[in-house]
Amino acid sequence: MNSFSPRIEISLSQIRENTQILSDLYLEKGISLMGVTKAVMGDPSIAKAMIQGGVKFIADSRIENIQKMKSAGISTQFVLLRTPLSQAESIVKNADISLNTEIKTIKNLSYHAKAQNKIHQVIIMVELGDLREGILPYDLPQFVRETLSLPHIKIIGIGCNLACYGGIKPDDKNMRELSELVDLLEKEFQIDLKIISGGNSANYDWFKSSQNVGRINNLRLGESILLGCETVSRKAIPGLHRSAFQLIAEVIESKKKPSLPSGEICQDAFGNVPGFLDRGTRQRVIIALGRQDIPVSSLKSIDQLKMIGSSSDHIILDGENHNLEVGDEVRFSLDYGGLLAAMTSPFVMKQFTDCNSQVAI
Ligand SMILES: *Cc1c(COP(=O)(O)O)cnc(C)c1O
Repeated sequence: MNSFSPRIEISLSQIRENTQILSDLYLEKGISLMGVTKAVMGDPSIAKAMIQGGVKFIADSRIENIQKMKSAGISTQFVLLRTPLSQAESIVKNADISLNTEIKTIKNLSYHAKAQNKIHQVIIMVELGDLREGILPYDLPQFVRETLSLPHIKIIGIGCNLACYGGIKPDDKNMRELSELVDLLEKEFQIDLKIISGGNSANYDWFKSSQNVGRINNLRLGESILLGCETVSRKAIPGLHRSAFQLIAEVIESKKKPSLPSGEICQDAFGNVPGFLDRGTRQRVIIALGRQDIPVSSLKSIDQLKMIGSSSDHIILDGENHNLEVGDEVRFSLDYGGLLAAMTSPFVMKQFTDCNSQVAI
């Protein structure tokens, strides 16, 4: 009968087209792209679609995801976005480049690179106001000096990350600061920094409005490619697909019921005391999907069904005038948090819609 649900339907051709449009756009001002796969748990088919779309690197925050893509035969330059000291051996083995902010970690990478007879490449991350990862600009020269003394490490570039923790917008000022740091380091140490990675999907507005991108020649994009938007205000990027991912759940109950519960109101399953509006008797629909699968605020019904409430494994929708029956399916688009959760939930099946393969990851 129906396909398995809940499931997330993924269009690889839409992801490929999004990547292509973004690659072409950013290349107009000399910027190459890293395709970021962490939100899709390093899914090899999605990585492949990004590579076909023109990204020069695949970046992920988890070495396990990079291992998975390599085992699946994906061949590209792999970049690790978050570098734990304890995983240094595996990082040297599996990643070509890692982003770094701690000298202790880089020393450990150097140690393992020597053991594996390799040179490990690092991008040094600079703190420019967002207060997530990064070395303070003031400390950067000393950090670079120490890193240059390590024989099995090559500094291939510097980068920064904004709009993640502090919600700080990439703008001409902070991007210029990054460019100036590049000039300063190259001059002081007589080195050539190849990759200047200015940020993520939040850099779109800066890129569009900027006449001169300075030394910035790379961005690391996840959400723009996957969901078709920038991330400063979640505006759609012209020409991109916005629903390459859709979540589908099954109706398990459909009945007319009053909109007011009866009896004394106490705490619900999550410790809140709910309030209700009397809208008379309405058709109510329950779907087999819940908060254990996804933050329900991340869901947007494609058929404009209104959400009445949710618990760990049920979502109640106002089904008035929708003629939904038991066994019918309901479709949702997702925001980034929803995509992350759905791709990580073992209960949500992953299905590619524009080829025949069904892959559970
Ligand atoms: C997640 C991440 C990105 C990608 O961010 P998007 O907003 O999905 O484009 C880029 N850089 C770093 C360091 C990250 O952790």
